[in-house]
Amino acid sequence: MNNEKIWLSSPHMGGTELKYINKAFEENWIAPLGPNVTGFEEDIKKYLSSSSKDSFQVAALSSGTAALHLALIILGVTSEDEVLCQSMTFAASANPIKYLGATPVFVDSEEETLNICPIQLEKAIKDRISKGKKPKAIIAVHLYGMPYKVDEVHKVAKQYDIPVIEDSAEALGSTFKGEKCGTFGDLAILSFNGNKIITTSGGGALIARNEDEKNKAVFLATQARDDAPHYQHSQIGYNYRLSNISAGIGRGQMEVLDKRVHARREMFEFYVNLFRSVDGVRIFEEPNSDYFSNHWLTVISVNEDVAGFSRETLRECLLGFNIESRPLWKPMHMQPVFDGCPFYGTGVSEKMFENGLCLPSGSNLTNEDRNRIKEAIQNCLNK
Ligand SMILES: *Cc1c(COP(=O)(O)O)cnc(C)c1O
Repeated sequence: MNNEKIWLSSPHMGGTELKYINKAFEENWIAPLGPNVTGFEEDIKKYLSSSSKDSFQVAALSSGTAALHLALIILGVTSEDEVLCQSMTFAASANPIKYLGATPVFVDSEEETLNICPIQLEKAIKDRISKGKKPKAIIAVHLYGMPYKVDEVHKVAKQYDIPVIEDSAEALGSTFKGEKCGTFGDLAILSFNGNKIITTSGGGALIARNEDEKNKAVFLATQARDDAPHYQHSQIGYNYRLSNISAGIGRGQMEVLDKRVHARREMFEFYVNLFRSVDGVRIFEEPNSDYFSNHWLTVISVNEDVAGFSRETLRECLLGFNIESRPLWKPMHMQPVFDGCPFYGTGVSEKMFENGLCLPSGSNLTNEDRNRIKEAIQNCLNK
C-alpha cells in the first residue's frame, strides 16, 4: 500500500493556471503589476459582490499578512493605539499590530464557532475605555472557514463605533446568511498561501469598501510614490504588490474555487460519518443554517475522560501512519512573544488548544487517501 505522507492541506492546481502564466511570459509581464493582477482583482470582486448589495474594491497583495498591515495603517493605527484581536488564531492576525508599535488586546473565543466571543469583546471594550483608551480596531477571524458570529460581533463594534478588520484568510467560499465571508468588515483580508483553500503560491488581498481605500492600499503597497516624474516620497511605503505570475495562478484557481469548497465539505462529511459513533469526540459543525463553512480544515475536540484517549495520542498515532494532523492554533495570549498583552476570556481557547485537532482536509485527497485515513483512525481508536 502507498505510504506517502498525507498532508493537512496542500496546493491543488486546477489546470488553467499555466495558460495565464504563459500569457504573462509571452507579453513579458514579469512584474508586480499587469493584466493578471488586474484580472485577478476583478475575479475576486465579482465573486464577493455576487452575494451582496454592497460593492467592493480589491487590492491584490503579496500576502494576507501584508493586507492586515495595510488595513491597520488605513484605519490610522499608530504606536499610541490598542487593537482588539481574536486570541485563537494564526500569529499573522496579530503580528501587524506590533509592526506598527501598537498594543494587541486579546479576546477569547466562544465554543460554537471557536471565534471571537461577542460577550468577552464587549467586556474588553468597556474595560479598555474605563482605563482611558478606546481600542482603535477589532480583528475578527473566521477560523478554519467557520464564520464568526457576524451579527453579534458587528453589533458590539457598531455600538462602540470601532471598525472591524475581517480576517477571512481561511474563509474564502464560506457564507453567513447567504453573504460571503470577506464582505462583512469595514476592511477584510484574504490569503492565498500554499495551504489555503485556493493558492497563488503566496499572496493575499485587501477588500475595501470604496475606491479611495483601495487606491490608498495600492499606493502604500508600491513604495508610496508621490505623483512626480522623479521618485518623490512623503510617506513610508512598502513593497507589497502581488506578482503578475502569482496572480496568473490565482486567476486559474478562481475558476475552480466552488469545486474546492465542495471537496473540502465532502472531507468534512467523511469525518462526520467516521466519528458519528465515537463517544467523547466532538466534530465542529455549523451551529445552524445561517452558517456555511468552506471547512478549510475539519476540527474535532477529544474529551479524554469520555473517549479514553487524548488528542495527543490520536495525533501521534496518525503520525505513525504517516498522516499529518495538528493541534489548533495556540492562542496568542499564551505565546511568549505576546507575553504581558491584556487578555479577556474564560479559558475557552485554552481548552480548545488542549483538546482540539485539525484533520487532513485537502481538496486533492483521493479515495485511497480517505481509505488510509479511515483505517488509521479506526486502528488508533481501538488501541
Ligand atoms: C494564513 C493566515 C493569515 C496570513 O496570510 P499569509 O498570506 O500567509 O500572510 C492571516 N490570518 C489567518 C487566520 C491565516 O490563516
